[in-house]
Amino acid sequence: MRAAVYAALAANERPASAYDIAEAVSRAEGRRVVANSVYRILDLFVAANLAQRVESANAYIVNAHPGCLHDCIFLICDRCGRTDHIDDDRISQDLRGAASAAGFAPVRPVVEVRGLCAACTES
Ligand SMILES: [Zn+2]
Ligand SMILES: [Zn+2]
Repeated sequence: MRAAVYAALAANERPASAYDIAEAVSRAEGRRVVANSVYRILDLFVAANLAQRVESANAYIVNAHPGCLHDCIFLICDRCGRTDHIDDDRISQDLRGAASAAGFAPVRPVVEVRGLCAACTES
């Protein structure tokens, strides 16, 4: 089941919702798989750093760098849904510092930028 969920997630270039993945796994396995059990597995993947949650899209994407921990900054295209990401530890360190200074803990920055990707800007 975990392998099937991971395969369905990896088949998507764009962030996929638990419902999208439940449907893909249901099709692949020939049996009904509910989104709730997919959510549980996706959360395990996120905890293991294998997948990342794109909060503003309520969706998941394969982690581009499972070997290292970053506060990834997602760039999400409002037109085609393409999601790229950049890592800028300076920005996330600043955010962590500012939140800690305000007495906030534990700190987990979520930075997502919405707009148009390069391809959609050209067309
Ligand atoms: Zn990253
Ligand atoms: Zn786009």
